[in-house]
Amino acid sequence: MADPLVVIYGSTGTGKSDLAVELATRFNGEIINADAMQMYRGLPIITNQLTPEEQRGIPHYLLGNIGLDEEPWSVTSWKREATKIISDIRSRGKLPIVVGGTSYYLDGLLFDEKLVESDPATTDGSETAAAKATRDELASQHPILRESAEVMLAKLQEVDPAMAERWHPKDIRKIRNSLEIYLTTGRRASDIYAEQRARKEAKRAEQPPSPWNLLLFWLYAKPDMLNERLDKRVDKMVANGLLDETSSVYDYLQRRLAAGDTVDRTKGIWQSIGFRQFESYLSAVKSTETDTPQAALEKLKQQGIEDTKTATRQYAKYQIRWIARKTIAALQEENLLSNFYLLDSSNISHWHSEVAEKGSSLLAKHLAHQPLPRPEDLSDTAREVLAEQLERSNRPETICNKTCEVCEKEFRIEEQWQKHLKSKKHQKAVKWAKRQAEGWPTRGVAKGDKVEEGTNDDVDADDADGQVPKP
Ligand SMILES: [Zn+2]
Repeated sequence: MADPLVVIYGSTGTGKSDLAVELATRFNGEIINADAMQMYRGLPIITNQLTPEEQRGIPHYLLGNIGLDEEPWSVTSWKREATKIISDIRSRGKLPIVVGGTSYYLDGLLFDEKLVESDPATTDGSETAAAKATRDELASQHPILRESAEVMLAKLQEVDPAMAERWHPKDIRKIRNSLEIYLTTGRRASDIYAEQRARKEAKRAEQPPSPWNLLLFWLYAKPDMLNERLDKRVDKMVANGLLDETSSVYDYLQRRLAAGDTVDRTKGIWQSIGFRQFESYLSAVKSTETDTPQAALEKLKQQGIEDTKTATRQYAKYQIRWIARKTIAALQEENLLSNFYLLDSSNISHWHSEVAEKGSSLLAKHLAHQPLPRPEDLSDTAREVLAEQLERSNRPETICNKTCEVCEKEFRIEEQWQKHLKSKKHQKAVKWAKRQAEGWPTRGVAKGDKVEEGTNDDVDADDADGQVPKP
């Protein structure tokens, strides 16, 4: 029998860490942190670590274990360490519980046999010199590969209509690629991909999807209730001394800069919520040259608090979206959805019954190898949220070939095209084009301007895959 492993997903502010401690206390467990920011030492308030009292004597690993000058860990390093710790915990007869808001760490731990996509639909446009040489050689044997997209597409429609339908008529690289496969192998690319998919599925079916006997939780709170709670938490953090921590990080940064160190401000602790939002305030407070009036300082501080609240809400939204889209899709592919339980922590006064008791009851059954309920039967919220996400991930893609002339972007999937039309990026570009056409000055909005989007409406259409989240 595979070893049991509990994994707790969830956004910030849902009580994940408390659930982990509750389960560890009841089931002789130890906890491994999967939150990139909580790995930083000395910043318990900014990073929302449990206090020692709240940890209730349960051993916690990979928590507060790196210094401010260290880079955040890659998923590979985290996974390597976490796997070692899990084995060690098991060897002592204890239950490992992994918990954290950095879902890409958790996904990395669970889904190591990531499907290697050999289908060019998802590969990027780069081409190596060797590939280029081969391409030239191929073209000398098959001159049609030097023709226009239109000519090659007509040929592809004849020999492999399924592939022809997938590509945008102007996407010469993909059209040529599919045609090349046919010309060099004598077989249709669509057949080859279908076989590859079937082989992968067969391989998955014969291998256990995971070396562990997994029980997975998703701590979920309804957005309006979560946002209210997050706002209150920021106020509480400020009352508990957030600004002292922020100030020490600020001083550390100034010392590094004064010593002439290069500091990459785009990652690590410098991007943590609760630091960058207070930089203007701290810079004014600590300035020895100018003397900012008290009222102005207070205003900067309040702005920092507001900005921290906004950033926290956006981060929670981002985390939920990751789980809802990426994690659920991967779980479905690995046949693990039946072990993925949404616990509803929307209402904090029901935390004990909805989260602690339901979670414990599931874990007790899981450890005793008893049958577990279906995840959707756990609560109304579970039913609604899981159904919605499954419907989304199973919705068939409608193939379309549309080009947005304004943004000069091509779309292959109807849903992404629709999403693009609604995106802020597109609407801003349209507005700009219209103003330009009417001869208006285009002050304040420039084509290609990066639109700051906390809501990131375009995420699926443009850059969903391979994107590393800001911790
Ligand atoms: Zn557009």
